[in-house]
Amino acid sequence: MAVQRVKLALIDLSGTLHVDDQPTVGAVEALKRLRQHGVQVKFVTNTTKESVGSLYDRLRKIGFELQRDEIYGSLGAAAEYVRRNNLNPYYLLTDDARTDMPPNDPERALDSVVVGLAPERFCYEHLNEAFRVLHQRSVKQEVQLVAVHEGRYYKAKDGIALGPGCFVKGLEYSTGVPAVCIGKPNEYFFRSALPDGIDVAECVMIGDDPNDDCLGAMRIGMKGYLVETGKYQPEKYTDEDRPAVSGIFPTFSDVVQHIISSSAEQ
Ligand SMILES: [Mg+2]
Repeated sequence: MAVQRVKLALIDLSGTLHVDDQPTVGAVEALKRLRQHGVQVKFVTNTTKESVGSLYDRLRKIGFELQRDEIYGSLGAAAEYVRRNNLNPYYLLTDDARTDMPPNDPERALDSVVVGLAPERFCYEHLNEAFRVLHQRSVKQEVQLVAVHEGRYYKAKDGIALGPGCFVKGLEYSTGVPAVCIGKPNEYFFRSALPDGIDVAECVMIGDDPNDDCLGAMRIGMKGYLVETGKYQPEKYTDEDRPAVSGIFPTFSDVVQHIISSSAEQ
């Protein structure tokens, strides 16, 4: 079977290239090798705790070579959504993430809620504020619940940690307002990350989340490669129910090796 040459790799960050301030094994070198092989890269992240600027600084500090505009995040896509729809949201976001979002208009009533991963804001007081904004929905008053993403959990330094998804679902449950979800695994997000004119068959997505990274990208025709350095826990699956992704590899570096050696076979 002919192997399609890879022209673009969309690469997840947390759990794939790094876990907190630690690059995953061999990732810094592997990223260099991938670029030297002529593959264009773009970093696609659902990270909502940090602004793009903070994320960029952190990745540089731990050794990765990249340009700031190579990072495409769901936070930026959500900011674009808020602007386009002229929303004045109550933000359930960290202070750092807020710096990527349009400022509030104090002259207008709040008409929406934007939820990202904001551990210090997920307490009754703030969730209740969000609930009250959404509860005003009526025939005259339109409101929107915007989920930067609906991640169930992620890999933190001290283990698996709760994502923003359950807070989004809780607000949906109590208000009856369905969330608009912006980030991975939505088709809109993957399509908007691709440069014009590129063929999806020449693109791969590399990540540690079987559903949000791999299957999401595969739904639009890309290959989805899963790595085992982050949240994916192979012991939770049997041979029969393992995620139906294009490939499972121990590390990002192994995926890069696979991409390089399969193009050499052509
Ligand atoms: Mg990840």
